[in-house]
Amino acid sequence: MGKLIRGTSKNARFYVVDSKDIVQKAQEIHGCSPTAIAAFGRLLTASLMMGADLKGNDLLTIRIDSDGPLSQIIVTADPKGDVKGYLSNPLADTAPKPDGHPDVSSLIGKGALRIIKDMGLKEPYVGLSTLQTGEIAEDLAYYYYTSEQIPTVIALGISINDDLSVKAAGGYMVQLLPDAEDWFIDKLEEKIKSIRPVTELLEGGMDVQRIVKLLYEDIEDETYEKLVEDYKILDEKEPKYNCNCNKDKFYRGLITLGREQLEDLFSKEDKVETECHFCRTKYEFRKEDFSDILK
Ligand SMILES: [Zn+2]
Repeated sequence: MGKLIRGTSKNARFYVVDSKDIVQKAQEIHGCSPTAIAAFGRLLTASLMMGADLKGNDLLTIRIDSDGPLSQIIVTADPKGDVKGYLSNPLADTAPKPDGHPDVSSLIGKGALRIIKDMGLKEPYVGLSTLQTGEIAEDLAYYYYTSEQIPTVIALGISINDDLSVKAAGGYMVQLLPDAEDWFIDKLEEKIKSIRPVTELLEGGMDVQRIVKLLYEDIEDETYEKLVEDYKILDEKEPKYNCNCNKDKFYRGLITLGREQLEDLFSKEDKVETECHFCRTKYEFRKEDFSDILK
Protein backbone atom coordinates (compact mmCIF):
# COMPACT_ATOMS: atom_id res chain seq x y z
CA MET A 1 0.00 0.00 0.00
CA GLY A 2 1.09 3.55 -0.65
CA LYS A 3 0.92 6.59 1.63
CA LEU A 4 -0.79 9.79 0.61
CA ILE A 5 -1.27 12.89 2.70
CA ARG A 6 -2.93 16.12 1.87
CA GLY A 7 -2.96 19.32 3.85
CA THR A 8 -3.05 23.05 3.83
CA SER A 9 -1.42 26.19 5.20
CA LYS A 10 -2.22 29.88 4.97
CA ASN A 11 -0.68 30.28 1.52
CA ALA A 12 -0.81 26.86 -0.07
CA ARG A 13 -2.21 23.36 -0.14
CA PHE A 14 0.02 20.35 -0.49
CA TYR A 15 0.02 16.66 -1.34
CA VAL A 16 2.80 14.16 -0.67
CA VAL A 17 2.78 10.54 -1.77
CA ASP A 18 4.92 7.46 -1.40
CA SER A 19 3.81 5.35 -4.36
CA LYS A 20 6.46 2.61 -4.35
CA ASP A 21 4.03 -0.28 -3.83
CA ILE A 22 1.64 1.07 -6.45
CA VAL A 23 4.29 1.51 -9.11
CA GLN A 24 5.71 -1.91 -8.25
CA LYS A 25 2.28 -3.49 -8.76
CA ALA A 26 1.94 -1.60 -12.06
CA GLN A 27 5.32 -2.96 -13.10
CA GLU A 28 4.31 -6.53 -12.22
CA ILE A 29 1.13 -6.23 -14.28
CA HIS A 30 2.48 -4.39 -17.30
CA GLY A 31 6.14 -5.48 -17.44
CA CYS A 32 7.48 -2.11 -18.55
CA SER A 33 10.87 -1.11 -19.91
CA PRO A 34 13.01 1.07 -17.58
CA THR A 35 11.96 4.29 -19.30
CA ALA A 36 8.31 3.25 -19.69
CA ILE A 37 7.95 2.50 -15.96
CA ALA A 38 9.47 5.91 -15.19
CA ALA A 39 6.83 7.57 -17.38
CA PHE A 40 3.96 5.37 -16.22
CA GLY A 41 5.01 5.60 -12.56
CA ARG A 42 5.19 9.39 -12.71
CA LEU A 43 1.68 9.60 -14.13
CA LEU A 44 0.27 7.12 -11.58
CA THR A 45 1.95 9.08 -8.79
CA ALA A 46 0.56 12.38 -10.07
CA SER A 47 -2.96 10.94 -10.38
CA LEU A 48 -2.92 10.02 -6.69
CA MET A 49 -2.22 13.59 -5.67
CA MET A 50 -4.52 15.13 -8.26
CA GLY A 51 -7.28 12.75 -7.23
CA ALA A 52 -6.84 13.37 -3.51
CA ASP A 53 -9.66 15.94 -3.41
CA LEU A 54 -12.23 13.74 -5.18
CA LYS A 55 -15.45 12.83 -3.41
CA GLY A 56 -18.20 10.21 -3.69
CA ASN A 57 -18.20 8.56 -7.09
CA ASP A 58 -15.86 11.10 -8.73
CA LEU A 59 -13.25 9.76 -11.07
CA LEU A 60 -10.11 11.44 -12.35
CA THR A 61 -8.49 10.32 -15.58
CA ILE A 62 -5.21 11.60 -16.97
CA ARG A 63 -4.50 10.70 -20.53
CA ILE A 64 -1.49 11.37 -22.72
CA ASP A 65 -1.62 10.85 -26.47
CA SER A 66 1.68 11.52 -28.17
CA ASP A 67 3.80 10.82 -31.22
CA GLY A 68 6.72 9.14 -29.38
CA PRO A 69 7.27 5.37 -29.00
CA LEU A 70 5.06 5.24 -25.90
CA SER A 71 2.06 6.61 -27.83
CA GLN A 72 -0.61 6.49 -25.10
CA ILE A 73 -0.86 6.33 -21.32
CA ILE A 74 -4.08 6.42 -19.34
CA VAL A 75 -4.38 6.46 -15.55
CA THR A 76 -7.42 6.84 -13.33
CA ALA A 77 -7.81 7.62 -9.64
CA ASP A 78 -10.87 7.51 -7.40
CA PRO A 79 -11.64 9.00 -3.96
CA LYS A 80 -10.79 5.74 -2.15
CA GLY A 81 -7.25 6.04 -3.42
CA ASP A 82 -7.59 3.25 -5.95
CA VAL A 83 -5.53 3.87 -9.05
CA LYS A 84 -4.97 1.91 -12.21
CA GLY A 85 -3.48 2.55 -15.58
CA TYR A 86 -2.73 1.36 -19.05
CA LEU A 87 0.04 2.11 -21.51
CA SER A 88 -0.04 1.12 -25.14
CA ASN A 89 3.63 0.14 -25.56
CA PRO A 90 5.08 -0.95 -22.21
CA LEU A 91 8.21 -2.35 -23.87
CA ALA A 92 9.06 0.87 -25.71
CA ASP A 93 12.34 2.25 -24.41
CA THR A 94 14.87 4.98 -25.07
CA ALA A 95 18.53 5.32 -24.10
CA PRO A 96 19.09 7.13 -20.78
CA LYS A 97 20.13 10.77 -20.80
CA PRO A 98 23.86 11.57 -20.38
CA ASP A 99 23.23 12.13 -16.63
CA GLY A 100 21.80 8.60 -16.31
CA HIS A 101 18.18 9.67 -15.88
CA PRO A 102 15.51 7.97 -17.99
CA ASP A 103 14.73 9.94 -21.12
CA VAL A 104 10.97 10.08 -20.55
CA SER A 105 10.68 13.14 -22.75
CA SER A 106 11.92 11.27 -25.87
CA LEU A 107 9.78 8.23 -25.05
CA ILE A 108 6.67 10.37 -24.92
CA GLY A 109 7.43 12.90 -27.63
CA LYS A 110 5.01 15.65 -28.58
CA GLY A 111 1.34 15.46 -27.93
CA ALA A 112 -1.63 16.28 -25.76
CA LEU A 113 -2.50 15.92 -22.11
CA ARG A 114 -6.11 15.47 -21.07
CA ILE A 115 -7.47 15.75 -17.56
CA ILE A 116 -10.94 14.29 -17.31
CA LYS A 117 -12.93 14.76 -14.11
CA ASP A 118 -16.13 12.78 -13.97
CA MET A 119 -18.09 14.20 -11.07
CA GLY A 120 -21.45 12.65 -11.84
CA LEU A 121 -22.61 15.62 -13.89
CA LYS A 122 -24.15 15.24 -17.32
CA GLU A 123 -20.82 15.83 -19.01
CA PRO A 124 -17.41 15.21 -17.48
CA TYR A 125 -14.99 18.12 -17.23
CA VAL A 126 -12.24 17.78 -19.84
CA GLY A 127 -9.14 19.97 -19.65
CA LEU A 128 -6.79 19.81 -22.61
CA SER A 129 -3.26 21.12 -22.88
CA THR A 130 -0.23 20.62 -25.06
CA LEU A 131 2.73 18.70 -23.66
CA GLN A 132 5.55 21.15 -22.91
CA THR A 133 8.50 18.87 -22.17
CA GLY A 134 7.09 15.33 -22.04
CA GLU A 135 8.66 14.97 -18.58
CA ILE A 136 5.14 14.88 -17.05
CA ALA A 137 5.67 16.99 -13.90
CA GLU A 138 6.25 20.18 -15.94
CA ASP A 139 3.41 19.26 -18.26
CA LEU A 140 0.99 18.94 -15.35
CA ALA A 141 2.19 22.20 -13.79
CA TYR A 142 1.63 23.89 -17.16
CA TYR A 143 -1.85 22.38 -17.35
CA TYR A 144 -2.75 23.69 -13.89
CA TYR A 145 -1.43 27.14 -14.65
CA THR A 146 -3.08 27.56 -18.07
CA SER A 147 -6.34 25.62 -17.57
CA GLU A 148 -7.13 26.11 -13.90
CA GLN A 149 -5.04 29.24 -13.15
CA ILE A 150 -3.39 27.52 -10.19
CA PRO A 151 0.37 28.06 -9.74
CA THR A 152 1.63 24.57 -8.96
CA VAL A 153 4.94 22.93 -8.15
CA ILE A 154 5.05 19.21 -8.85
CA ALA A 155 7.93 16.81 -8.25
CA LEU A 156 7.63 13.19 -9.34
CA GLY A 157 10.31 10.54 -9.06
CA ILE A 158 10.70 6.84 -9.81
CA SER A 159 13.92 4.90 -9.28
CA ILE A 160 14.33 1.27 -10.23
CA ASN A 161 16.67 -1.58 -9.41
CA ASP A 162 18.72 -3.50 -11.97
CA ASP A 163 16.05 -6.24 -12.06
CA LEU A 164 13.47 -3.55 -13.00
CA SER A 165 11.69 -3.74 -9.65
CA VAL A 166 10.88 -0.39 -8.07
CA LYS A 167 13.37 1.02 -5.59
CA ALA A 168 11.48 4.18 -4.68
CA ALA A 169 8.57 6.15 -6.08
CA GLY A 170 6.74 9.22 -4.94
CA GLY A 171 6.15 12.88 -5.31
CA TYR A 172 4.85 16.10 -3.89
CA MET A 173 2.64 18.85 -5.19
CA VAL A 174 2.27 22.35 -3.73
CA GLN A 175 -0.42 24.68 -5.03
CA LEU A 176 -0.56 28.34 -4.15
CA LEU A 177 -3.86 29.59 -2.85
CA PRO A 178 -5.36 32.74 -4.37
CA ASP A 179 -3.72 35.78 -2.70
CA ALA A 180 -0.65 33.81 -1.66
CA GLU A 181 1.86 36.26 -0.19
CA ASP A 182 5.00 37.12 -2.16
CA TRP A 183 7.41 36.24 0.64
CA PHE A 184 5.97 32.74 0.82
CA ILE A 185 6.24 32.25 -2.94
CA ASP A 186 9.89 33.38 -2.92
CA LYS A 187 10.79 31.18 0.02
CA LEU A 188 9.01 28.20 -1.43
CA GLU A 189 10.85 28.59 -4.73
CA GLU A 190 14.15 28.73 -2.87
CA LYS A 191 13.21 25.69 -0.86
CA ILE A 192 12.17 23.59 -3.86
CA LYS A 193 15.46 24.42 -5.58
CA SER A 194 17.48 23.44 -2.53
CA ILE A 195 15.97 20.07 -1.67
CA ARG A 196 17.17 16.79 -3.11
CA PRO A 197 15.13 14.78 -5.64
CA VAL A 198 12.13 13.04 -4.11
CA THR A 199 13.48 9.53 -4.82
CA GLU A 200 16.62 10.36 -2.83
CA LEU A 201 14.50 11.58 0.08
CA LEU A 202 12.46 8.37 0.06
CA GLU A 203 15.48 6.11 -0.40
CA GLY A 204 17.07 7.92 2.53
CA GLY A 205 14.18 6.77 4.69
CA MET A 206 12.01 9.88 4.80
CA ASP A 207 8.28 9.22 5.07
CA VAL A 208 5.56 11.47 3.70
CA GLN A 209 5.12 13.41 6.97
CA ARG A 210 8.83 14.15 7.10
CA ILE A 211 8.78 15.38 3.51
CA VAL A 212 5.99 17.85 4.33
CA LYS A 213 8.01 19.06 7.28
CA LEU A 214 11.01 19.48 5.02
CA LEU A 215 8.98 21.52 2.53
CA TYR A 216 7.79 23.86 5.28
CA GLU A 217 10.72 24.02 7.67
CA ASP A 218 12.84 27.15 7.66
CA ILE A 219 10.31 28.98 5.55
CA GLU A 220 10.57 32.29 7.34
CA ASP A 221 9.14 35.68 6.60
CA GLU A 222 11.30 38.78 6.24
CA THR A 223 11.30 39.32 9.96
CA TYR A 224 12.95 35.89 10.25
CA GLU A 225 10.45 34.37 12.54
CA LYS A 226 10.77 30.63 12.52
CA LEU A 227 8.02 28.54 10.93
CA VAL A 228 5.52 31.32 10.44
CA GLU A 229 3.79 29.15 7.89
CA ASP A 230 2.05 26.58 10.05
CA TYR A 231 0.55 23.71 8.17
CA LYS A 232 -2.18 21.24 8.91
CA ILE A 233 -2.53 17.71 7.58
CA LEU A 234 -6.15 17.22 6.49
CA ASP A 235 -6.13 13.54 5.76
CA GLU A 236 -4.07 10.45 5.17
CA LYS A 237 -4.85 7.60 2.81
CA GLU A 238 -3.31 4.29 1.90
CA PRO A 239 -3.79 4.23 -1.85
CA LYS A 240 -3.33 1.11 -3.92
CA TYR A 241 -3.24 -0.16 -7.47
CA ASN A 242 -6.66 -1.70 -7.83
CA CYS A 243 -8.85 -2.50 -10.79
CA ASN A 244 -12.60 -2.74 -10.34
CA CYS A 245 -13.28 -4.87 -13.41
CA ASN A 246 -15.38 -8.03 -13.30
CA LYS A 247 -16.71 -10.64 -15.68
CA ASP A 248 -20.12 -8.99 -15.92
CA LYS A 249 -18.62 -5.75 -17.26
CA PHE A 250 -16.96 -7.63 -20.10
CA TYR A 251 -20.12 -9.67 -20.70
CA ARG A 252 -22.13 -6.50 -21.14
CA GLY A 253 -19.39 -5.15 -23.41
CA LEU A 254 -19.65 -8.21 -25.64
CA ILE A 255 -23.42 -7.92 -25.78
CA THR A 256 -23.11 -4.42 -27.20
CA LEU A 257 -21.41 -5.99 -30.25
CA GLY A 258 -24.84 -7.22 -31.35
CA ARG A 259 -26.06 -10.57 -32.55
CA GLU A 260 -24.34 -10.67 -35.92
CA GLN A 261 -20.89 -9.93 -34.60
CA LEU A 262 -21.32 -12.37 -31.73
CA GLU A 263 -22.40 -15.09 -34.15
CA ASP A 264 -19.37 -14.33 -36.24
CA LEU A 265 -17.12 -14.45 -33.19
CA PHE A 266 -18.37 -17.87 -32.08
CA SER A 267 -18.50 -19.36 -35.60
CA LYS A 268 -14.75 -19.91 -35.51
CA GLU A 269 -14.14 -20.53 -31.80
CA ASP A 270 -16.38 -21.96 -29.12
CA LYS A 271 -14.86 -19.71 -26.51
CA VAL A 272 -13.72 -16.12 -26.49
CA GLU A 273 -11.20 -14.62 -24.10
CA THR A 274 -11.18 -10.98 -23.13
CA GLU A 275 -8.45 -9.23 -21.19
CA CYS A 276 -8.67 -6.16 -19.00
CA HIS A 277 -6.24 -3.46 -20.18
CA PHE A 278 -5.71 -2.21 -16.64
CA CYS A 279 -5.04 -5.38 -14.65
CA ARG A 280 -4.54 -8.03 -17.36
CA THR A 281 -7.20 -10.28 -15.84
CA LYS A 282 -8.57 -12.64 -18.47
CA TYR A 283 -12.24 -13.58 -18.69
CA GLU A 284 -13.46 -16.49 -20.76
CA PHE A 285 -16.86 -16.66 -22.44
CA ARG A 286 -18.55 -19.57 -24.17
CA LYS A 287 -21.24 -19.60 -26.79
CA GLU A 288 -23.72 -20.88 -24.20
CA ASP A 289 -23.24 -17.68 -22.19
CA PHE A 290 -25.01 -15.85 -25.01
CA SER A 291 -27.69 -18.47 -25.72
CA ASP A 292 -30.48 -15.91 -25.18
CA ILE A 293 -29.13 -13.71 -27.94
CA LEU A 294 -27.82 -16.36 -30.30
CA LYS A 295 -30.99 -18.47 -30.39
ZN1 LIG B 1 -9.19 -5.03 -14.59
